[in-house]
Amino acid sequence: MKEQLVKSTDMIYDGINKCTSITVHETANEKIRANAQAHANLQSSGGARQASWHIQVDDVQAIRSYPDTAKCWHAGPAAADSIAVEICVNADGDYDTAFKRAAQVVRDLREKHNLNRSAIKQHADWSGKDCPAKMRLAGRWQEFLSLTDGAVNMSTMVSPFDGRLTQNHGDSGGYRGHKGMDIAPPKPGQTGMPVYAAFAGTVRKIHRTAKNGGKTSTWAPGRTGNGGLISNPDGEGNGYNHMKPLASLKVGDKVEAGDLLGYNDKSGNQTAPHLHLEFWADWRNPNSDYDPQLAFKKFGIKPGSAPAKTGNVTPVQSKPKPKPKPSAPKPSTGGNDKGDYIAIAKALNAMGLKAGYPDGVNGPMLKSATKAFQKQHGLVQDGNWGAVTQTKFEEVKAIQRALQKQGYTKQGVDGYYGAQTTENVKDFQRRTGLVQDGKAGSITQKKLGL
Ligand SMILES: [Zn+2]
Ligand SMILES: [Zn+2]
Repeated sequence: MKEQLVKSTDMIYDGINKCTSITVHETANEKIRANAQAHANLQSSGGARQASWHIQVDDVQAIRSYPDTAKCWHAGPAAADSIAVEICVNADGDYDTAFKRAAQVVRDLREKHNLNRSAIKQHADWSGKDCPAKMRLAGRWQEFLSLTDGAVNMSTMVSPFDGRLTQNHGDSGGYRGHKGMDIAPPKPGQTGMPVYAAFAGTVRKIHRTAKNGGKTSTWAPGRTGNGGLISNPDGEGNGYNHMKPLASLKVGDKVEAGDLLGYNDKSGNQTAPHLHLEFWADWRNPNSDYDPQLAFKKFGIKPGSAPAKTGNVTPVQSKPKPKPKPSAPKPSTGGNDKGDYIAIAKALNAMGLKAGYPDGVNGPMLKSATKAFQKQHGLVQDGNWGAVTQTKFEEVKAIQRALQKQGYTKQGVDGYYGAQTTENVKDFQRRTGLVQDGKAGSITQKKLGL
């Protein structure tokens, strides 16, 4: 999902949204171009009159304006612990597609917050307002509810890659903007390891000419390297990246869960070999990505566990190289996306750890700053940004908690040194007569009581 978070907290209640329900709205604005982007911009600019909502959806995309934890103004104080989803009804949009996309968004939220059908509300349930009006008029509420049942509406899933989870999706602790899950091979640096289809489906896109280290995008905007995209019978999509597809695999081929798709390679922009796996709620929409953990959990599969093959393996034409080159395997860094390293470098710099210029590269300065961070937290000092290091992101959380104690209550304690934290730190610095650079250096931290 695209994120365009509102920086101001003027239009939300204080406190943390308990996410006990989801409320469906429609914008009631049928003007042309009154789409999700226009509504997100309206919220960003502070132009929405006395109202706020978490997510807006049209026929093209869903855009998040507030984290789930924000208490938005969308159906009165009674609905402050509800997540608000607005469906756009602009005349130049396709309402039916927006309706289905909104159902996918609600379905993912249900999985994320463990909510059953009864927790899905209409705006009308809170206040009696005729909203979502178009859906109500057409009598499509039950249809909408049924589309929100169950993430990955499939019967079989197979672990796609043997190895270990090194980076989660942005929604569950991975870096913001990380649209998939990274699974590194059992031994760092291994290539030529088999990748299997997690779900049955149809091959939609194949890319096999990417260069090692190349940054050109391939089967989806922003993704680099070889790989493929498969659509599932329920309309979802699965993307496999940094994988050399089998020579025999072509667009239109049907695959079963567990079929061999190819072998992991060094193509694209990656610092150490891994499978970058993406799950999309709509295979046509690269921004409909959701956290693959939802599917792994639903099927009781541990990411990186040994795949259960079907035997329906397509014959291999080019023989894989089972033995990786023994020379100097690079340790896995856990992350692979430029944006990840920029976020890590910014956060480490903010902690005074001198990670260097945030250029999206895991260079020596970033590595030594990561090592210093690991040393501070009693972790293995390997300079790799794996799952353990990520969960120890306590320092940013401590800064956010301390800011909350100072009265900056309108932000999530998420361990991410994002725009909201920076703004709050700036305000705090202004108040305490410090340089207002938004960086929580040692002086600021001391003043915060850390
Ligand atoms: Zn409404
Ligand atoms: Zn990745």
